[in-house]
Amino acid sequence: MKPQTFDAIVVGAGQAGPSLAGRLAQSGRKVAVVERKLFGGTCVNNGCIPTKTIIASAYVAHKARTAKDYGIDVSGSVKTDMKAVKARKESVLLKSRNGIESWLRGMENCTVFTEHARFESPTTVRVGEQRIEAKEIFLNVGGRARVPDMPGVKEIPFLTNTSILELEELPRHLAVVGGSYIGIEFAQAFRRFGSEVTIIEMGPRLTQREDEDVSSTIKEILEKEGIHVRLNAECISLHDCPEGVEVHVTCDEDAAPTTASHVLLAVGRVPNTDDLGLDKAGVAVDKHGYIQVDDQLRTNVPGIWAMGDCNGKGAFTHTAYNDFEIVAANLLDNDPRRVSDRITTYALFMDPPLARVGMTEREVHESGKPALIGTRPMTKVGRAVEKGESDGFMKVLVDKESKRILGASILGTSGDEAIHCITDVMYARAPYTTIQRAVHIHPTVSELIPTVLGDLKPLE
Ligand SMILES: Cc1cc2nc3c(=O)[nH]c(=O)nc-3n(C[C@H](O)[C@H](O)[C@H](O)COP(=O)(O)OP(=O)(O)OC[C@H]3O[C@@H](n4cnc5c(N)ncnc54)[C@H](O)[C@@H]3O)c2cc1C
Repeated sequence: MKPQTFDAIVVGAGQAGPSLAGRLAQSGRKVAVVERKLFGGTCVNNGCIPTKTIIASAYVAHKARTAKDYGIDVSGSVKTDMKAVKARKESVLLKSRNGIESWLRGMENCTVFTEHARFESPTTVRVGEQRIEAKEIFLNVGGRARVPDMPGVKEIPFLTNTSILELEELPRHLAVVGGSYIGIEFAQAFRRFGSEVTIIEMGPRLTQREDEDVSSTIKEILEKEGIHVRLNAECISLHDCPEGVEVHVTCDEDAAPTTASHVLLAVGRVPNTDDLGLDKAGVAVDKHGYIQVDDQLRTNVPGIWAMGDCNGKGAFTHTAYNDFEIVAANLLDNDPRRVSDRITTYALFMDPPLARVGMTEREVHESGKPALIGTRPMTKVGRAVEKGESDGFMKVLVDKESKRILGASILGTSGDEAIHCITDVMYARAPYTTIQRAVHIHPTVSELIPTVLGDLKPLE
């Protein structure tokens, strides 16, 4: 059967594909969008939106439990209705999912296929029973939870970031394997809902990409809420037991295991590139399966681009969306935007959040650049104290010669918003003195950033 011809095919309706489809269709191209499952992809359906929604529910539980500290009497014990938490989450995410789907379906010049896409050649894609072809193909296939090959994993029921969001009962004891961003967000939320929670991390500290002071403060905050943290778990194995699952963490067989009712695996992501027929198109991937792209997100095959998590250049919604902007700018606007213009920035949405931009202190050290550092505990940030949320600290690193900001970490209330005044000055390539002389609103967390920058010391 002859393939149906389009000008462009977009595979995956995640965080880059739909917006690009919109621009391509606007440019007069006849566009096909192929989505095999849920419109909006990971972020909308089992990533950012649902997790931030349940984190909001967990925050309310935490505040209700600590209401007395604020002079508020919330009589009775705080109970979580997981069915209601789930229903709230669903109602928030469905608005996004349905909005994206109906936007694409109603789009002029756009045909939507709800099938799994697989290449048959560099220009032809099979979608279910049909074949479609185009000279321009854009991959936005995202990723999924990695299931590690650890002993016992095939014999026990485990949760991933997708299935944990479907729970309607509160786990008695949740063991979270993996002490990084996704694991920590779920761990704190479920502890606040009322579960006993243990984080099991193979490495010597949580969030190993971060500086040690950040990791240790995160651990303190979590432990203060009653979360057990087991580090250096070198020999993790999982065993069925009457109470649920026994998680052995050390190589010493006599050491006490963690006995959990539920186990969440949060040990990284893998790209959805193994079942895409990339070999038929000749598209190169790296050893982890990430599609190799250049600075404009072009693959090695002319006419095929890869955006979002599947290219390994970012692992966030904002990086996937920025990939769309880069492809659209180069292809449609004659604007030479590049991935290498992007400054690394992200947040871990525990409470208080960790917000990061640019280099860590360790990276600055390793670069050998002469640098300055400014720090401030959140106990010396008026707004944090007033809110009763004074855990954490902020630190900013500056290049001694150019006076440009190299990076910052804000682990503290509203850090996820306050970081952007630093990010924007970094994008402006302006010296740190620009922020130091700016007048910020009182009382905010951001108002102390000029103060931190006014008290820089040499980085030793
Ligand atoms: C628990 C969790 C929390 C997160 N929280 C945040 C956060 O707070 N902030 C943040 O920035 N990021 C967060 N992320 C990361 C964020 O969700 C991803 O970086 C983002 O969704 C990546 O977007 P994408 O467009 O690359 O892929 P995706 O959103 O994964 O979309 C890919 C789409 O492609 C479809 N697809 C795949 N293969 C095929 C095929 N062969 N044929 C047809 N369709 C296909 C999939 O069904 C999917 O809809 C979180 C992730 C997780 C797991």
